[in-house]
Amino acid sequence: MTHPKTIVGKDPHRGINIEIAYDTTILSVREIGPDQGVPVIAPGFIDGQVNGYGGLDVNSADVSPQTIINLSAELAKLGVTTWVPTIVTASEEAITVALEQIKRACDIDPTTRAAIPCVHIEGPFISDQDGPRGVHDAAFVRPLDADEIRRWLRASGMVGIVTVSPHTPDAPAQIARIRELGVEVAIGHTHASPEQITAAITAGAGLATHLGNGIATTLPRHPNALWTQLADDRLAAGLIADGHHLPSDTLKVMIRAKTPERAYLVSDSTALAGSAPGRHRTSVGGLVDLAPGGRLSHVGTDLLAGAAATLPDGFRNVIRNVGLELPEALKMVTSTPARVIPGTRPGLGHLRVGSPADFVLITGEGPGAGTITEVIQSGRKVSGGPE
Ligand SMILES: [Zn+2]
Repeated sequence: MTHPKTIVGKDPHRGINIEIAYDTTILSVREIGPDQGVPVIAPGFIDGQVNGYGGLDVNSADVSPQTIINLSAELAKLGVTTWVPTIVTASEEAITVALEQIKRACDIDPTTRAAIPCVHIEGPFISDQDGPRGVHDAAFVRPLDADEIRRWLRASGMVGIVTVSPHTPDAPAQIARIRELGVEVAIGHTHASPEQITAAITAGAGLATHLGNGIATTLPRHPNALWTQLADDRLAAGLIADGHHLPSDTLKVMIRAKTPERAYLVSDSTALAGSAPGRHRTSVGGLVDLAPGGRLSHVGTDLLAGAAATLPDGFRNVIRNVGLELPEALKMVTSTPARVIPGTRPGLGHLRVGSPADFVLITGEGPGAGTITEVIQSGRKVSGGPE
């Protein structure tokens, strides 16, 4: 029997210093005396929407179990110890293949299995209109069909979230069937009317996919589908907090409308996240420019070509540029996504006995506020110096 390890930090929610004993889960949490020198301690971050990072791509044609295992390990080093692989609009065959590769990765590697609560299928049942469709391939957009989701589940029980556009008359009935399959429905990439949005939520849709993006660039000032999604407290919303997809004032107001209990940050990162600034060729977006601040745009245009920032980047952005207090920002990357994303482990997103031993140490104050300095995943140090 090995001795449990311990870690010390300041719990920002309670404003006290704590010592945590852990092996792969938290064994005890003990209050200790004041010490100004300790960093903030928080649960590992949870990213509900990841397409790729560091050249590794969930949606590439040659995705393998090793791609997923490597991606999981790279994200963990950043502080993202739980993540939701996100498969975008493609043929049923391609979606099934990607699902099988993710499942195999989880069967091979227990750490990857622990890090992935479920898989998010973003599409193919989305708007076919330019604008709300975003960069999803129009050739593979198709009408909402719960039977196809049932077939995905046969290939892999890991499907946990499906993003749909509820713009058709049968959408509420289809959504109710998807919920009966045990799959969460997220509203996104949509041109649905406010009434159709409300009907979808009443039928069981519980999430909004990157609210404020994946919608027409021009909308009636009111009513419109954004206000409806912001106002409905039954709906939790993922927000891309990279500083490019939503201007700071928009992000601030959306967080206030939803509150950090119902808003969670996602990276929506692509394989180019973590790459050097410059011109790159992508599998879906053609030639793109990656600016030093992480803005990814199609060459020669002002159009965003996906996200290249990480979840910790977005976390720092909401502290430094949106003005959120650290405990509020933390909820949106820990306890809130842990609650609203299907399949998460018991106690995830909290520092309590029985929770997974996933921790990040964070600089609490000063110019480096919000910077992650150390990461522990399933009881093992994955970045921040030797164990
Ligand atoms: Zn999207």
